[in-house]
Amino acid sequence: MKLSIKYSLFILPLSLLFFSCNNERKPQSIAKAKLGATDGAEYAMVIHGGAGTIKKENMSEDMYQQYYNALDTALSIGEKILKEGGSSLDAIEKTIHFMEDSPLFNSGKGAVFTNAGTNELDASIMDGANRNAGAVGGITNVKHPISAARAVMEKSEHVMMVGEGAEKFAKANGLEIVDPEYFKTERRWNSLQKILAKEESTGHVSDFKDSKYGTVGAVALDKAGNIAAGTSTGGMTNKKYNRIGDSPIIGAGTFADNLTCGVSCTGHGEFFIRYAVAYDVAARMEYKLESVQEAAEFIVNEKLVKAEGSGGLIALDAKGNVSMPFNTAGMYRGYIKPNEKVIAMYQE
Ligand code: ASP
Repeated sequence: MKLSIKYSLFILPLSLLFFSCNNERKPQSIAKAKLGATDGAEYAMVIHGGAGTIKKENMSEDMYQQYYNALDTALSIGEKILKEGGSSLDAIEKTIHFMEDSPLFNSGKGAVFTNAGTNELDASIMDGANRNAGAVGGITNVKHPISAARAVMEKSEHVMMVGEGAEKFAKANGLEIVDPEYFKTERRWNSLQKILAKEESTGHVSDFKDSKYGTVGAVALDKAGNIAAGTSTGGMTNKKYNRIGDSPIIGAGTFADNLTCGVSCTGHGEFFIRYAVAYDVAARMEYKLESVQEAAEFIVNEKLVKAEGSGGLIALDAKGNVSMPFNTAGMYRGYIKPNEKVIAMYQE
């Protein structure tokens, strides 16, 4: 009798442990099975260059060509790395470097201006293999904010650094430092002046809905099956008080987990933070067993529309399935897989 009590005392916790582990495993393996919707791509990368009032009637042929070429070059930079067996982290970092260097996009050079007439940059990166992540907010002198985010992920014990501290850390880790003037472009300066003039003439603080977006992001799947996602931005024109948006917030503007998908968002950041948009795509896939397209479409075109949160996102699952929904007039976007390339800007 004594022995059997002892025995059950021993067996009970063990079996509890066994069943709870089993329960934890179950949804994951089912979620994985659901991903097998396509045959699977050897590698894939999807990018965005921001969502907003991007309309055919407002775009000159020359501007269209410039954006097309930039998106095309960005895709080929990432593809080369992935094709040669490089990591998804390297692919998105190098792709985003190119977009940060291009004055066409609101990240790095060409970032939008704050109310004070400065450029404050935010970026984040996440590794889907281990859910490691790094982010920087409000930096003013690091040429490639996405690399500063990667340095935080790989060379510190932290996930997020902001302002001067983040700049010091980036410098100490050998990243290229530039004069803050480097980021300035006339086009973005004029956008700020327009908003300031409007504020002055109407006496109202401008609505962020009027601001043009243009954040950049990339999500890649490499040959080893690892997903990585990254986002880099100057935020929103006329932002004040060291405002930080969703782009450097893991789970809001960026998320990656090999189990489900990688996500990078663009749009009115406050809504993306409040609705935990990037993580919500992965959560719906994991817990509701939705496909990446179902999850992304629902969040952008139902949930965010109801909330009046404008923007879009790119998402990529472990089989290379791509989703690029947006609820604005347009979104600079594209993806590349072996033998498949898509580049688009307007509602198709
Ligand atoms: N989401 C960015 C922010 O709110 C802006 C954008 O995507 O254009 O800072």
